[in-house]
Amino acid sequence: MVKPKIICVTGGKGGTGKTMVAVNLATMFKNRGYKVLLIDGDVENPNTYLLLNGKLKNKTEVLYFLPKIIEEKCNKCGLCAENCATHALLYIKNSFPIPISTVCSGCKLCYKICPTNAIDADLKIIGWIYTSSAFNIDLFLGELKPSEASSAAIVKTLMEKLKKVIEIDQNKYDVVILDTAPGAHCDVEELINHADFIVPVTEPTRFGKLDLLRIIELIELLEKEYKVIVNRSSLLGFKEKFLLELEEKGIELLGDIPLDEDIVSSYCQGIPLMEIKRNSDKSGMGYQSFNEIFKNLIEWGEFVK
Ligand code: SF4
Ligand code: SF4
Repeated sequence: MVKPKIICVTGGKGGTGKTMVAVNLATMFKNRGYKVLLIDGDVENPNTYLLLNGKLKNKTEVLYFLPKIIEEKCNKCGLCAENCATHALLYIKNSFPIPISTVCSGCKLCYKICPTNAIDADLKIIGWIYTSSAFNIDLFLGELKPSEASSAAIVKTLMEKLKKVIEIDQNKYDVVILDTAPGAHCDVEELINHADFIVPVTEPTRFGKLDLLRIIELIELLEKEYKVIVNRSSLLGFKEKFLLELEEKGIELLGDIPLDEDIVSSYCQGIPLMEIKRNSDKSGMGYQSFNEIFKNLIEWGEFVK
């Protein structure tokens, strides 16, 4: 492989087991000898490191640009406010513009176009990026500072970091797995946009189906390939009906994962099931279902090594 193949594990709703799937997929690739990077883009609730029994290291601040008007230099022309796409500069004729931080996207356009250099950068910390490693899987993780709203800027910083790593050495990783936040918003869109293969994780409930259809709408809008994993598929015996409903809608399945004690136990230990099973008894429905999913994924993504 000349550049890493990027798989995005996502899901329309929280609690479907998307992070559990992401860490186990990362583990299976690693067990097969692939160089794997896992990126946790669920920046409001980043917890992949907990499921990898890892520790967060190498904390770096993510700074966000906000415009600061230097009144001595400002001629009150209003050019900055006129061109601000998010209307984050309140401007009344013959007055100094007033920045509204809650709607500012940090794009720096005002800073670049001001004819008198009257805009300065008012940088603030909106979160952090960590790098770590566990079970021979590298991890990048973003964390949004409490009370901050610019989660998309943290996700963008994670993807810029990935881009830099690939630019320096495109063979550093064979596979990159992105774990998104739940929902179908701009953070999730950013990660889906960077991926080659999208794996939405759902569960066989009415809410699960509704949110799955929502995330599929976004994936199709972005013209990406996807295949679905149904987690907790044996829940209340609705599996067959749910799978049939997906089939009727033309939704392709990557596989399903039944309720399984081994999965719960691995979750409690903070060690991926497929790491525990690497050197131990290979029985169990959880192990078998992940193996089947991995086989389908290798075939779908034409992974060769
Ligand atoms: S573009 Fe510059 S000079 Fe004009 S109003 Fe904005 S800050 Fe002031
Ligand atoms: S940085 Fe961009 S969004 Fe923020 S005030 Fe300037 S032009 Fe508007």
